[in-house]
Amino acid sequence: MTLNGKICVITGGASGIGLETAKCFANAGGKVVIADINIDAAKQAAKALGDGHMGVDMDVTDPDAVEQGFAKVFNAYGRVDVLLSNAGIQMVKRVEEFTFEEWRKVVSIHLDGAFLTAKAVLPQMYKQGSGTILFMGSVHSLQASALKAPYVAAKHGILGLARAIAKEGGEKGVRTNVICPGFVKTPLVEKQIPEQAKDLGISEEDVINKVMLGETVDKEFTTVEDVAHTALFLATFPSNALTGQSIVVSHGWRMD
Ligand code: NAD
Repeated sequence: MTLNGKICVITGGASGIGLETAKCFANAGGKVVIADINIDAAKQAAKALGDGHMGVDMDVTDPDAVEQGFAKVFNAYGRVDVLLSNAGIQMVKRVEEFTFEEWRKVVSIHLDGAFLTAKAVLPQMYKQGSGTILFMGSVHSLQASALKAPYVAAKHGILGLARAIAKEGGEKGVRTNVICPGFVKTPLVEKQIPEQAKDLGISEEDVINKVMLGETVDKEFTTVEDVAHTALFLATFPSNALTGQSIVVSHGWRMD
């Protein structure tokens, strides 16, 4: 699977799944742009990947910041071949305890971010007659868990956005798919373990073994490498046979 000089933009690429996918894409010959709200970490990560890669400052919820970030990408490379819309956060509370601002913050990073970054690359991809957009969904794109209402709602919404883009982009050579990981031990998940233990009144061990891994086939976390390899498979897939799909990577937690 080779990316052979393709320009790949990864939002939220400075940490966790995005960072591992950046490494995987670079190893496969891609030129990677790490677009992240944490610009120092994005620049450092891009530098560690070697020459030809780039870190870009981008808050995916801010239309101006997204436009300016992609202007830098187009200036530097003149095109975008792969977008992985991956930036995300999690907040764990009961529905009635979320403030409206908290709800909007979670939904905005996932759903507005997916829309704004797709909107930024689509005209260029249509001009090129080719491109792949990958959205980072979740098992929570397909089912719910307690305490995660805005995240679950936004991740479900990403499926709809991806399917609409798949319909519009097919004839123009642009395809789009959603990756739906189970629990992956990144900072996003590490933070939730004590929070869920407190909210559910159970031990952190039970959060891991019962809540997070209870329904997997082997009680194992999905790894950042598992998700990165899936992203590479989708990024290099050569035809529209795979578009508008969601692929679950979850150690059997979710089976479709
Ligand atoms: P992470 O916390 O390690 O990384 C998230 C990255 O997003 C960070 O670099 C952060 O700076 C960046 N970010 C946050 N807000 C941003 C914004 N407004 N604009 C730009 N960048 C922003 O988390 P992760 O676990 O690697 O999560 C990456 C994606 O994978 C998220 O969309 C998450 O929902 C999804 N996901 C994670 C898991 C899991 O178990 N970790 C499971 C399923 C899906």
